[in-house]
Amino acid sequence: MNTKPYFNKVCLLACILLFSSIVSSCKKKETTATPNAKDDMASSIAYFVKQGFKAENVVFKDGKFILDHDIIISAEEVATRIKNESPAGSPQTEHWRHNYIVKNPYHKNIRLYIEPSVPLEWKTAVQGATSNWNNMVSNDGSIELGMSTTDFAFASDTRVFMGYENANWIARAYLPTSNGRAGVSIEINSKYNGLISSEKLFAITHELGHTIGLNHTDQNVGIFIQATNPWQTTPPLVDPNSVMNSVVLPWTAFTTGDVQAMKILYPRIL
Ligand SMILES: [Zn+2]
Repeated sequence: MNTKPYFNKVCLLACILLFSSIVSSCKKKETTATPNAKDDMASSIAYFVKQGFKAENVVFKDGKFILDHDIIISAEEVATRIKNESPAGSPQTEHWRHNYIVKNPYHKNIRLYIEPSVPLEWKTAVQGATSNWNNMVSNDGSIELGMSTTDFAFASDTRVFMGYENANWIARAYLPTSNGRAGVSIEINSKYNGLISSEKLFAITHELGHTIGLNHTDQNVGIFIQATNPWQTTPPLVDPNSVMNSVVLPWTAFTTGDVQAMKILYPRIL
């Protein structure tokens, strides 16, 4: 979840420079670096590109990959996925997409643990965002999904905690794991504690979307973007008010495309 497009561009440039510096430093260490490490990085980048991410929007930092500024996948998880999903070059089918969502029965009650250090306004946003998703489910009737908060970290699926970085991401989250559990955490950047409450609510609703497997509607390609696009055109039109748009808005409601996507990913089985 990011701030404004202008800042996205600045960050994009920073990411390119950062990515370049990683590549450069690898080159400098060419005589000592193991081929495996370089191969792993290249295959990881290729894996993300195959999914529709742009290579320049993939950043490796502290043992994890950050995609489009706020989607996190650990290097270990990527390695597991690549291993599980070989042979490389297989087409992006529904099966591929299933690796991103929470498996039955875990999706019926995704439990969030909010760390005590999370300020009240953000805690309210997390609870409101949880209600947003639950309300979508109860209002539609054809979607099966549930979220709740728990006071016990050991009983949770997703941990919500505070972080700080002088960067343009408001919050960032892990995608579901390859074993079908919700993304393990949502990190909130305390730099943005001053956002108005409706933007906080939008941001956390967006991050919860990542933890259940949704990607950005305005940055990626693939089946899911079509699903969030109520006009069903090719190429898909951007759904500018979608909660999965990468730029924060004041919260109003889910779009038709948001609901349509959830119907496809988490249908209620009668
Ligand atoms: Zn995002």
